[in-house]
Order: sequence, then structure tokens, then C-alpha cells
Amino acid sequence: MSEARRTGERGIAEGVLALVGGTLVDGTGRDPVQESVVVVEGSVIREAGERAQVGIPAEATIIDVSGMTVMPGMIDCHVHISITTMDVDQRLRTRKTVELFQTAEMMKRTLDAGFTTVRDAGTLKDVGFRQAVEMGLVEGPRLVVAGALVPTGGHFDVYYPRGVELPFFGGERCDGVPEVRKAARRALRQGFDCIKICTTGGSVYPGDSREYTEWTVEEVQTIVEEASARGKAVMAHASNAQGIKNALLGGVWSVEHGSVLDDESIQMFLDRGTYLVPTLLPGQVLYEGGEGIAQAGVSHAQMKARRLASIENFKLAVDAGLKIAVGTDALGEKTHGINARELELMTSYGFTSMEAIVAATKTASEVCCLDAKVGTLEPGKLADLLVVGGDPLEDISILQDKSRLSLILKEGSIHANTLAR
Ligand SMILES: [Zn+2]
Repeated sequence: MSEARRTGERGIAEGVLALVGGTLVDGTGRDPVQESVVVVEGSVIREAGERAQVGIPAEATIIDVSGMTVMPGMIDCHVHISITTMDVDQRLRTRKTVELFQTAEMMKRTLDAGFTTVRDAGTLKDVGFRQAVEMGLVEGPRLVVAGALVPTGGHFDVYYPRGVELPFFGGERCDGVPEVRKAARRALRQGFDCIKICTTGGSVYPGDSREYTEWTVEEVQTIVEEASARGKAVMAHASNAQGIKNALLGGVWSVEHGSVLDDESIQMFLDRGTYLVPTLLPGQVLYEGGEGIAQAGVSHAQMKARRLASIENFKLAVDAGLKIAVGTDALGEKTHGINARELELMTSYGFTSMEAIVAATKTASEVCCLDAKVGTLEPGKLADLLVVGGDPLEDISILQDKSRLSLILKEGSIHANTLAR
């Protein structure tokens, strides 16, 4: 393979590539390695470490990345990739076919932003987009697709008083242990990577409220039991204290939002090793007047209060040492592609830059149950990798600047590359 193909074009990377001289931030949380070498062979990382200790294979194409940072591709554990607006009128006017193209565009934006894996939180109707990405039909991050289960009248059961249903989450309606067991089995049969449930309501449609608790603990346990039998995780949206505890009692893998922590739930997180995906971004974007993600029946004053509460809540989680991963709840056109802002928000409220990077790499890979394959730059892992102009440990916000993402590799395949230009 010619140097030009290797460094100046996009396409499938073949052969061996050596990124030489950059600062390695490998995603494990270890101290950065100055003057590093990362060797990529095909789709896999062969070696990563100090220049003195890593042999550069004779056949390698060498790329000088001095002054730059080499880090894992980022992972967003909570997106709604097919949702481009929450506006009911706009949703009604959008043909389903158009929505597919919009989804493809949101996926490309997300990968352009340096996110090489995302977990869709119950929005996609099936795993077809994951397959389309794998087939190379659509450019996008690796998808982990959650199949949603929905109790009647729940957060995902989008219903208007006129009698109109407007589902924009995937998911099957089911109630009671026998039904949820069957629905979970059906979702798993369809090939979903994990299951999404909501143990509280939210603010999606008029009859929805985060004060409502959804599912019994028994129902949650049943879903977890079925998912676990297939080695799959359950993620639970939970925005009130009781719903968070019900999710934890039910044995879910990760709690999403987890907006109202208290001593009891914090202890439960610690005892069970459950992950928290706090999703700070939507509150911030709403607060700044973001259109298209405005939520039903929520006043500006409420939004403001919620944002502050979720910040305080995040601080509690950080102080308690919970396992925290990056998730943005990206669900409007304006939030897809700005995923890296979540890392900056985390550093504003208690995380170091390194902790935010680990939350978007290693910890996020654990939440997605992909830690054997991605999340860190270590030998044998898939080559999901970014070369960033500058030092994100110094200034985490540079990860939001796409012009600094000089190289984006996904599984060794070059998605973006300006290094040779
Ligand atoms: Zn969500």
C-alpha cells in the first residue's frame, strides 16, 4: 500500500501503521506516555507504549504525530440516533423514509465527532442500522442497539389525549411478569444487544412525568433474568429516587440519568457495582435554549432547576466514587455530533480531564459490554483510535473541535485523516 493511500485518503487500512512521537492517553487512566509509538495492524492494535520499548515493524507505514495525542475512539453510552427532533408537528410531517436518511446523517456526524461506538437507548426499531454499518452501507460508529420494553402508559408509550400514539422509541408494550418475560425473549430473538427499560417516566408527552414510577421490581428482575441468560445487559432510564432504587433492586447493569441520588441508592450502586450514565448534556442544551429537544410540559424555570439538580447529583456520584460513563442522551439534530461536550461538562463539575476521558473510553466500553474489544489502546484491542491536535488533558474542550481530530480510525479503517495534508 502506498504512503498516499495510507495517509492521504480514506479507506480500509491494510498492512501495518505506526503512529510515532505522540502522547499516548490509552484510556486506562494510566499516566500519559510522551514520545509513544502505537502500532496498528489491519483492524487491531499490535502494540502501544513508550518509543524505547515498542519495536516498529520494518513493513510499517510511519506517521509522525509529534505534538499530538493518540487516544481511543470515544464511546457514547446513551444516544437516540434516529431522533432529530422532539417537536410533534415536525415529527408528524417527517416521512419514515426521510427519517432513515436523517438517521444515517446523525450517525456520520457522530463518527465525525470522534465517537467510534455508541449505544442506542431503545430508539431503533431493529438492529438493521448496526448491520448496515457493518456492511459498509452507512458511515457511522459501531452501534450497540438496545431493544426497548414499555409498560402501558410508560415513558416510551408516547400517547396524546386525542387518542393518538406517536411512538418514536422502538419497543414492545408489555405488562406483568409473563408478558415482560415473553417480550424480553422476543427482543433478544431479534438480536438486540441489550434491553432498555424506564423505571420512571420523563418529559416526552403530556401524560408523562418523571415523578411516575414504572414497572414493579419483579418485572425488572424478570427482564434482567432473561437478558442475563443470553449474556446481555439491561439499561434503565431512572429519574426519581424510587425508580432508581427499583432499577438497582431489579439488578440492571446501568442506570441512565439517575437524577435523584441519595445515601441509600449510592450504597446500592456501590454494593452492586452498577454503572451510572448521568447524561448532563441535554439539561445544558435546553438551558441554553436548544430547539428541537424541548420537552413536553416543562417550563424554563423547571429546566433551570433540573439542570442544577443534575449537576449537584453528578457531584454526589463523583464524591461517592460511582462507576460513571459518558452518555449524552443525544436526541435532537443539535445534539448529535456535539457528544464530546459531555466530557467538558463532567470536568466542570468534578472530574479531571483524565477521568472524563476514561468515562468516555474504558468505563463506557464496560457499560456497552465491549471492553474485551474496544475502549483502551492495548495490544489485541480493535484499532478504534483518534489522533488529536493538542492536549485534551490540558483542555478537554479541544475534543469538540473536529478540525483537531486529525485521524479517526474505526477498527483500523480510516474515517477521517488530515495528517498528510
Ligand atoms: Zn434517553
